[in-house]
Amino acid sequence: MSDEIVARQPQAPVYETDEPITYRADGPVAWVMMNRPQFHNVQNSQMTYALDAAFARAMADDAIKVIVLGGEGKHFSAGHDIGTPGRDHLVPFDRAFLFGDHSTRPGAELLYTREQEVYLGMCRRWREMAKPTIAMVQGACIAGGLMLAWVCDLIVASEDAFFQDPVVRMGIPGVEYFAHGFELPPRIAKGFLMLGERMPAARTYQFGMINEMVPRDQLQAKVAAMAHEIASRPRLGNWLTKQALNHVEDLRGKRTAMDAVFHMHHFAHAQNDLVTGHSLGGLDGAAMAKANKRQAGEG
Ligand code: ZN
Repeated sequence: MSDEIVARQPQAPVYETDEPITYRADGPVAWVMMNRPQFHNVQNSQMTYALDAAFARAMADDAIKVIVLGGEGKHFSAGHDIGTPGRDHLVPFDRAFLFGDHSTRPGAELLYTREQEVYLGMCRRWREMAKPTIAMVQGACIAGGLMLAWVCDLIVASEDAFFQDPVVRMGIPGVEYFAHGFELPPRIAKGFLMLGERMPAARTYQFGMINEMVPRDQLQAKVAAMAHEIASRPRLGNWLTKQALNHVEDLRGKRTAMDAVFHMHHFAHAQNDLVTGHSLGGLDGAAMAKANKRQAGEG
């Protein structure tokens, strides 16, 4: 075993919950909720695979017609877990794809293998689920949080919601599921990434990035009403409709652009590793939160 691999041996994650995702069926609607509110629903592998299992459960149940994805607590999701005791990026899980065990791989291959599976692979799989999905977004939707909102067919946000991808601070051109240039006009997307500022829900509404914006106390009722309405449509019609629009996006280059940028993203991880010895350029969750708060004038 090389020194490099020894240095990557994981500290065992300390999970604060056995249930990072909760699942509730309400008639034809499945409510899938991220459940790490004390950590602003940052996503570790435990959560990612639980999320995949929850979606599989909703897909296997013919009574479920629509799937809602939300987050418990103040925020939808503050991104990928880069700093809680439950960070488990070096832990092997039962894999959903045939890329192999990332945790045994040397150098840049480790992260490349992991992110093919848990980020790009999972997000595409969830985008293509054969039932309509609605993201219910409040508070922060940052970086990895964007990926989860963007894979859903519809996004309903509360007025307090904001969207942000600040990973250019790490020298990385946006999160792994690169839909930025499709979710926003290209010049707006450049500013969104280069400045990495919080974009309020009202601003994203101007670009059609979200479907509806409502006061925080009306968010759940609005999403429930939409979900039940969509659930009354024919199942196959709903599936074909989402496929039709996904296909249009892919014809416009979404899939191929995302493949290209995924590799740029990994070039950036590798460059960080070469120059700083750390794939995130030496920044962790606390450092990113501090920089974001300073930028937002909060600290
Ligand atoms: Zn990455």
